[in-house]
Amino acid sequence: MVNNSPNPLNFYAGPGKLPKKVLERIQNELLDYQGTGMSVMEISHRAPQIIELIERTQFKLRKLMGLDPEDDILFLQGGGSLQFLMVPMNLSHLGDPVDYVDTGYWTSKAIDAARSLGRDVHICAQDYEQIPELLDIRDHARYLHICTNNTVMGTQWQQIPDSPIPLVADMSSDILSRKMGIDQFDLIYAHAQKTIGSAGVTIVIIPRKTQNLMLEGLTPFFDYRAHIAAKSNYHTPPVFAIYIVECMLDWLKDEIGGLENMEIINHRKARLLYETLDKSQIFRCAIPAKSRSMMNVVFSALDKNIENAFSQACHEQRILGIDGHRSKGGFRASLYNAVTLEEVTTLSNFMIDFERQYG
Ligand code: PMP
Repeated sequence: MVNNSPNPLNFYAGPGKLPKKVLERIQNELLDYQGTGMSVMEISHRAPQIIELIERTQFKLRKLMGLDPEDDILFLQGGGSLQFLMVPMNLSHLGDPVDYVDTGYWTSKAIDAARSLGRDVHICAQDYEQIPELLDIRDHARYLHICTNNTVMGTQWQQIPDSPIPLVADMSSDILSRKMGIDQFDLIYAHAQKTIGSAGVTIVIIPRKTQNLMLEGLTPFFDYRAHIAAKSNYHTPPVFAIYIVECMLDWLKDEIGGLENMEIINHRKARLLYETLDKSQIFRCAIPAKSRSMMNVVFSALDKNIENAFSQACHEQRILGIDGHRSKGGFRASLYNAVTLEEVTTLSNFMIDFERQYG
């Protein structure tokens, strides 16, 4: 048995692994939130404890990401998918030009959403195998949309492109996994269930400079300004999921030591697995090094027999979440923040052993 721990090795692509320390904290605080004698789930969203929870979580996120105090942070529901709609709704009118880089499954969904709203969508570049270098951006477009990490394809922007127009980023699968210059973005959104918490909350960061790009006349529920004005409490916010984000922010700061350290750890994990793949005769990662994702390592096996045998062997060892996305097949190991270097080492050794036995 390679995996001797009582728990499975969790490489799920999302929702993904949470740190044990965070789960233990949630367990400890579950029945009595801050001496109230109630669970955080049972307290009104208008009560001071929850208003403070939202403000504190915004403050900690600002600090960790190096955001300006004037930048707005929203905690919304509806996942990344609702943001595929809210971005074009807030930043463009019907028929307006909007530019997208299509790097795979989720960007295609974002593009479909903008088209469904009648925006004039232009694809600046399309590449599902690697991050494109040349972008044909229209100067008059309202914004350029990218996805910083393509969860399904296993590609990631290692350098954020210069954009002559406002830059919008879907960071759902790599937010807070690395230190990133924030100034170049004009809007960031990310659901929490991969790198910074559980499903239920989506974080939207709206820098001050973007506030004058937002358009008037939207139904308030879809209007970022309504949520900003209501301090992320326009309607009942996902309180428990926000609380888990706060626990994750504390863990990132206190246990990991901030984003520089998180990036170093994530880099080591990914490098180990890519090195194993590059040395292998039976597994292969087809993505060029400059586009490889630190979060989702996508690979394939030489043939279907090996694929089936490896999938079965992982299952027996309780190595979970390793099968590729249903649209793509093959394999994918998601190495989100909570996955440890030891766990990736176990997976890597397991692959080497499997190859020895199978080869
Ligand atoms: N963007 C990316 C990069 C994703 O990986 C996903 C889902 N895995 C989404 C958006 C969609 O998010 P949701 O399921 O929260 O709507």
